[in-house]
Amino acid sequence: MWKILITDVIDAMGIELLQQARDVAVEQRLHLSAEELREAIGGYDALITRSGTPLDAGTLHRAKRLKVVARAGVGVDNIDLVAASKLGIVVLNAPTGNTLAATELTFADTLALLRKVPQASRSVMEGKWERKAYVGIQLYGKTLLIVGLGRIGSNVARRAKAFGMQVLAYDPYIAAEKAEHLSVELVDDLHGALALADVVTLHVPLTGETRCMVDEVALKAMKEGAYLVNCARGPLLDEPACAAALRRGHLAGIATDVYASEPPGTDHPLFSEDLLDRVVATPHIGANTREAQSEVSRIAAANLLAALRGSYYEHAVNLPFMHQQLDHTEKQYLALARKIGNVAATVLRMPPETVKVTHRGTLSRKRNGPVPFDAPCPYSPYTTGTLKGLLEIHQGPEVSYMGAPLLAEERGIQIEESWADSTTYLSMIEGCVAGGRDEVRISGTVTEDRRQRIVQINGYWLEFIPEGTLLIFQNHDRPGVIGTIGTVLGDAGINIANFALGRKNGSGLALGAVQVDSAIGGATLDRLQEAADLLWAVEIHFPDEGAVS
Ligand code: NAD
Repeated sequence: MWKILITDVIDAMGIELLQQARDVAVEQRLHLSAEELREAIGGYDALITRSGTPLDAGTLHRAKRLKVVARAGVGVDNIDLVAASKLGIVVLNAPTGNTLAATELTFADTLALLRKVPQASRSVMEGKWERKAYVGIQLYGKTLLIVGLGRIGSNVARRAKAFGMQVLAYDPYIAAEKAEHLSVELVDDLHGALALADVVTLHVPLTGETRCMVDEVALKAMKEGAYLVNCARGPLLDEPACAAALRRGHLAGIATDVYASEPPGTDHPLFSEDLLDRVVATPHIGANTREAQSEVSRIAAANLLAALRGSYYEHAVNLPFMHQQLDHTEKQYLALARKIGNVAATVLRMPPETVKVTHRGTLSRKRNGPVPFDAPCPYSPYTTGTLKGLLEIHQGPEVSYMGAPLLAEERGIQIEESWADSTTYLSMIEGCVAGGRDEVRISGTVTEDRRQRIVQINGYWLEFIPEGTLLIFQNHDRPGVIGTIGTVLGDAGINIANFALGRKNGSGLALGAVQVDSAIGGATLDRLQEAADLLWAVEIHFPDEGAVS
């Protein structure tokens, strides 16, 4: 029986869903002090919060049973994600619950701006009847540019078509088919598209790339007399530059629900007296509908239950990737990356200082989209897998995928990833780990028969399946070495399952990988080195691929 604690007021929908589950016991305890929460948290397997419950590292360290924290909403600023990740606690949120609410507010703000609704409303309540002063603009026939064609952007597109608008979209990270499916023209030149749009609406996350994306240059690129709508994130706009563009008359109006700093205060650049007739401002209410609150609560409860039960769930914010969302080949590459890390950690004689992971061939085309500026793990699944494999050799299998990048960074390991073509296999993962003067380079691929193969170590081409127990060694390339290795292993009662050898022209050296049916042990390794005059020899036991944590 899982014990779940709800610490904030959430919509009844989620609570009912949990109460109906036979394998959980739910308790709602509101207004707990920080001390009370620290005392109580050790007794629960999962927690549902909103923004009112601070979960700092100290509190999380007391949560010995805690596996999942679900935020019934989007922002997770109240949760120490780094501490949660190190402790292996999955943090979930519910970003899809408010998609339609935010979509509809985008139209509410846009129409209010184009038809001067707030100003007209204020005027009539003041006893005025200024019908001529409130002549607006219709959406019908106008061009809308949607920046960011994700969940909200797509829903805005559908509704804009219903208004009879011509819709352009700028989103370099989506497939062209998505835009086609929405009958939207996907553009690849943002500034060129800004020059065509009568209304520009932003629906991108805040990333290093999108911060201040509407700056002076972008504003100048906009069509004279255009309108700008921001119901996404405040820091996307250079607010003083926007106020200046309004004053110049280059922009006709701005509607915004979000601000660089919230709450914005009366001295906000857009709230200046001379701009009030051209600005519509709402207090970050994009998600505030009854339906959205209930949907958010349902999504948080449903995903929390699924995560506890080990079945398919969505919206983990601190998992470096969702294992269940990887296809079969991607899972194979992930397992391979981990084994590349295993081999690198075993062959490298010094503590690792840098890890470089190169994604080659078709893997390079699956390059990640933009990384949210506050993402706890900005690396690809394969980089994360390599790091886990590297660290678990010396620290044990409890190094999780979630914790590996943090642990690596904590140890000062420099992590680099790159994407490149492949001149040999269709796709390859290449791991290069260096420490002191030592460096190990390992490449692997997944072949047509869906088997993982390591194909190159330190420039020596050889091919073996990384599983079970493996002996890797470097030898002088002369007759008799292989025979000696066979004899020493045979004398120790160790059966050879497979043998792979690679030479590098002109080096006079070779590198070998021998798969064996049982553990080799230090004494036999020493005997091998001596008898076959090896430069070095190591033994690796690949861990079970098992469940992903
Ligand atoms: P989403 O992740 O579904 O979509 C974001 C889209 O932006 C993606 O398709 C992505 O490819 C695209 N994108 C990323 N970087 C880009 C760039 N540099 N240029 C162009 N496109 C880029 O997100 P969503 O759920 O649609 O949310 C969109 C935004 O709305 C987010 O910033 C979110 O925080 C905000 N939001 C605000 C409210 C509110 O209360 N006002 C409510 C919900 C969401």
